[in-house]
Amino acid sequence: MPVIAIDGPAGAGKSTVSRLLARRLGFFLLDTGAIYRSLALVARREGLAWSDGPRLGERAARLAIRFHDAPAGQRVLLDGEDVSEAIRTAEISSGASQVSAHPEVRDALLGLQRSIALQGGCVVEGRDIGTVVLPWAPLKFFVTASVDERARRRHAELRGRGHAPGSVEDVAADIRDRDARDSGREVAPLRQAPDAIAIDTSPLGIDEVVALMEREARRRLSLG
Ligand code: C5P
Repeated sequence: MPVIAIDGPAGAGKSTVSRLLARRLGFFLLDTGAIYRSLALVARREGLAWSDGPRLGERAARLAIRFHDAPAGQRVLLDGEDVSEAIRTAEISSGASQVSAHPEVRDALLGLQRSIALQGGCVVEGRDIGTVVLPWAPLKFFVTASVDERARRRHAELRGRGHAPGSVEDVAADIRDRDARDSGREVAPLRQAPDAIAIDTSPLGIDEVVALMEREARRRLSLG
């Protein structure tokens, strides 16, 4: 099955380019960050500590999550409830980064991610897709951008969604924290797969990045 792995740090423009690429190719989009975010949300609601790896692992194995493609964009359904907005707060961003550091959680969510990705043409977006979840993916991208650029973009995105993100510098500090946690953890740290194509999006417009990816995808996956 044609799967495209797109990894990279928070705020590099990964979500936007993944969504647009999936749309252009007619592929399903699997946003794996939304799965970790949903687990953080469930844990908060059920009084499970984000530091409790074993219990979070058990809970992750029973996570009833579905992605629903609506005309206005993809929605995330948790036990049938639309949590698309609730999982995007700064608090849940931090929680997702914490719960995702536990090996029990990553193991429990591996099968779920693979089974969704292998249902058909799929763009899979995350941190460890090309290295751990789908190391055999025929096409992998590693999307980066400078911290300042990522902070500016994330700040604008949060404001656009009606959140109050604080200053751009606050967002940059949050991004540095998450980078350190995501790259420094022992299990599935954020790193580029040897066979991934690296794209620095700082100097490029979204359209240029998506066009470049689409060209590669059509050529390498023989999509015409
Ligand atoms: O991509 P997004 O910012 O929504 O991801 C939220 C958090 O989930 C990240 O900070 C990261 O810690 C974690 N994550 C992960 N592995 C993935 C996707 C997300 O560890 N494949």
